[in-house]
Amino acid sequence: MTHRIRVFSLMATVCLLGTFGVSSKLGAADAPNILFIFTDDHASQSISAYGSQINQTPALDRIAREGMLFRRCYVPNSICGPVRAVIQTGKYSHKNGFLVNGNKFDGHQPTFPKLLQKAGYQTAVVGKWHLGEHMPPQGYDYSEVLIGQGPYYNPPMLKNGQRVKHVGYTTDIITDLALDWLKRKRDPNQPFMLMYQHKAPHRNWQPGPRHLTLYDDVTIPEPETLFDNYAGRGTPAKTQDMSIAKTMTASDLKLEAPKNLTPEQLKAWNAAYEPKNRAFREANLTGDALVRWKYQRYVKDYLRCVASVDENVGRVLDYLSESGLADNTIVVYSSDQGFYLGEHGWFDKRWMYEESLRTPFMVRWPGVVEAGSINQDIVSPLDFAATFLDVAGAEIPGDMQGRSLVPILRGQTPGDWRKTFYYHYYEFPGWHDVRRHYGVTDGRYKLIHFYEDDVNEWELYDLETDPHELQSLYGSRQIASVQQNLLAELQRLRRELAVPEVDPSASLRGGQDNPNSPATRSRAGKP
Ligand code: CA
Repeated sequence: MTHRIRVFSLMATVCLLGTFGVSSKLGAADAPNILFIFTDDHASQSISAYGSQINQTPALDRIAREGMLFRRCYVPNSICGPVRAVIQTGKYSHKNGFLVNGNKFDGHQPTFPKLLQKAGYQTAVVGKWHLGEHMPPQGYDYSEVLIGQGPYYNPPMLKNGQRVKHVGYTTDIITDLALDWLKRKRDPNQPFMLMYQHKAPHRNWQPGPRHLTLYDDVTIPEPETLFDNYAGRGTPAKTQDMSIAKTMTASDLKLEAPKNLTPEQLKAWNAAYEPKNRAFREANLTGDALVRWKYQRYVKDYLRCVASVDENVGRVLDYLSESGLADNTIVVYSSDQGFYLGEHGWFDKRWMYEESLRTPFMVRWPGVVEAGSINQDIVSPLDFAATFLDVAGAEIPGDMQGRSLVPILRGQTPGDWRKTFYYHYYEFPGWHDVRRHYGVTDGRYKLIHFYEDDVNEWELYDLETDPHELQSLYGSRQIASVQQNLLAELQRLRRELAVPEVDPSASLRGGQDNPNSPATRSRAGKP
């Protein structure tokens, strides 16, 4: 109700200003700023606010401590570009046209930053974009973005469409750009929405100069399912190509140095990795011992990249406090999906299984969100666009499939909030050989349909009795009524969301989703 009154008074102000011929943009002057911090492939298992057993993230924890942490933020399609398109549009992949990495985002369609501009916001995006370079990001007053995946060091970037070159560590550089925009480039008389988006901790997890030897002296605990044999699940879990044991390359494992470092960067890199690599070669590991070594190397590098993100997010939070912006700025932290940190023997994402379905989501909104609150509602990046528009007092287009989270942020979950969630992954054939699937979850039970002609299988899990999703219960008598209800709910959701019976394009090919292009991957070889 409070919100409606605010919108109403905002509209009155706009009308009044309109009468006097003043730009309606001024009407939003006291609206909250939005700082959207976004990372790539950040597993909530590596955020201490989410209970990480393997690292500490003090800056990210601060957002949770001073805001709301969401435990059930589910992505509609667990892969990089598609989730970014979902966020821009508030629509599922089959509606926004971006189904797999390698698709080109149609920037002509309505997106939330365009609508925020109309509502009087100035908008900017710095860092990873990953929706294609065929046109600059649409709906932004300022953009400085990586090209494609972008490298971890010395990234070329597109500044408002023009190529510029940076020297340094990409996580630091993106943060410098975000701070520079906040300090010097924006108009302080307008509310802002800044998307501050990291490449990290995406594959292939190259640590920054300050973290090259972090964790050298510790052993990171292994997940219980590191040596999963996939009994209890169907064909797809057995035929994937995303295992620590078999899929990782020499460059993933840092048995070769990155090719694009400056002499100084390379010297620091080699000083950190050469002694460790020498010891590894001399040990001549095989079997489980080799997998254990790869896990340690992988997860330590991943956590080093996370440490840099945390440190840099801390710099930005400090600036918000020092500048006085913090009081009227909503800080959102999220990632494009979750990730496997050795669970099921895997890295990467894509599956509707928990680690990749869930993504971290925390919101600090001083005076509105109760500090330290934890939410269990089923929410999604699908809801971000509607939420940001609601915050700005702008109208939410009727065809957006997400819904504003503002009532939930105020601690008042609407009675008709969603109780189930629809998921759909399309990228097969593609990287890592994860089969196309869709499914439904209610937060406890999960029904998954792998729906291709040659692999047409169902799986059903009960997270209460089987939190690691090791034993599919599909077809078992004890759960027949649950299965029947989920099947009906799945059909209802597919109708409601207008999911086509046949996938939108018959010629989907997974595009480049890792730093090793197909050409470099074939060269990389196995360690
Ligand atoms: Ca990603």
